[in-house]
Amino acid sequence: MILEKARVPFVKCACVSAILLLMPSRSPVPIQALRGAPRTQLEENPQVRSAMQWFSAHLNWINEEQARLTEIPAPTSEESQRAAAVKVLLAAVGLNVHIDKTGNVIGELEGANGKEVVILSAHLDTVFPAGTDVKVRREGGRVMAPGISDNGTGLAALVAIARALHETRIQPQRTILFVADVGEEGEGNLRGMHAAVDACGRSLKAVIVMDGSGIDHVTTKALASRRLEAVITGPGGHSWSDFGIPNPINALVRASVRFINTRVPVSPRTTFNIGEVEGGTSVNSIPHEAHLKVDIRSESEEELGRLETAFREAIAAGVRDEMEASRDRSRGVLESKITLLGNRPGGELRSDSSLLAALRAADEIVGNESRLERSSTDANIPLSMGIEAIAIGAGGMGGGAHSLQEWYDPAGRELGLQRAMLTLLGVAGVVPEKTR
Ligand SMILES: [Zn+2]
Repeated sequence: MILEKARVPFVKCACVSAILLLMPSRSPVPIQALRGAPRTQLEENPQVRSAMQWFSAHLNWINEEQARLTEIPAPTSEESQRAAAVKVLLAAVGLNVHIDKTGNVIGELEGANGKEVVILSAHLDTVFPAGTDVKVRREGGRVMAPGISDNGTGLAALVAIARALHETRIQPQRTILFVADVGEEGEGNLRGMHAAVDACGRSLKAVIVMDGSGIDHVTTKALASRRLEAVITGPGGHSWSDFGIPNPINALVRASVRFINTRVPVSPRTTFNIGEVEGGTSVNSIPHEAHLKVDIRSESEEELGRLETAFREAIAAGVRDEMEASRDRSRGVLESKITLLGNRPGGELRSDSSLLAALRAADEIVGNESRLERSSTDANIPLSMGIEAIAIGAGGMGGGAHSLQEWYDPAGRELGLQRAMLTLLGVAGVVPEKTR
């Protein structure tokens, strides 16, 4: 799936399915929320102004680092090589960097008030299995490679912002943690972000997640989702001589038909998808095993719970139906097992939060407008814990995420970098140079 139209402003990673919630006008932030927001303070700070210009002056370096990092394979759970490369880049700009037990790279820029922490993050992992050709190709203004946008763009932004702050000698009020985290995609189940948030404890005040390209959206609502796998096993046998024994694939099909007939509400939007089915060894064998994976999502935790129950009941009923239909139970019975592969909790950023005010102020400074979205991203973790968090694109345009045709066009990416940095400094605060 490639979006060819250059007018398409951005395509987010397909790991998130976004729902357009509203199209805010220019200043949707309540006056009260803007009070004390550091917009003019930021705009008038000469160091911040030179950090904003730093991006335009170093676009080649940023584009090259994005390509270099993209060419280091990083399937979920195999991010260590790419993590090591990001560690080198963050250490080179004076950050105190370590790799935590989960595999996250964490670079610390100490703030004047080190007791309060803000995280700027980008996930390291890609959906592409080991062995995928991740060589970057150039076609006109575009660069093409699996993972180039999701999340080559976010990682390039992470190291570029760290370097811009370093070279302009900006000191934040709150400590900033630059986090390149593992396990964002699929069955990674957001474990990297989980660990990073847990490690900060109560000192964590805000999380800004950079995921993919674009500058026209801000994810403030976390879409709750669960992923489940059902495995049905049986005796197995010959298609002719053992006919009549219970068949796990038959049971899975019976269960699937029941499950897909489950009614889900349009509002709150609730969805399900049978995404993988596997089983059997040959066409003339009664299989001894069959599996199926489903992804369920909802704007409502309650609906999500209801849908999970419906799935579990459908599997049990499919097994029961197949057992009842079988003629020969002497060779063994069917058994089923359901595993929760992933659970991404929901949550929502308050409309009067200081993080959203900082994003709006950043948008005004760079002349941008953002629409609010609901998605499933690393921001789910802090949002579900009541910590202010957003996910944004890191500039430029991209498309074909999670496909081998993924592309990125860096034109105008400096706007996305400025917007992310200004939002970060808006919540972290800047120590004025003369007071140091
Ligand atoms: Zn992503």
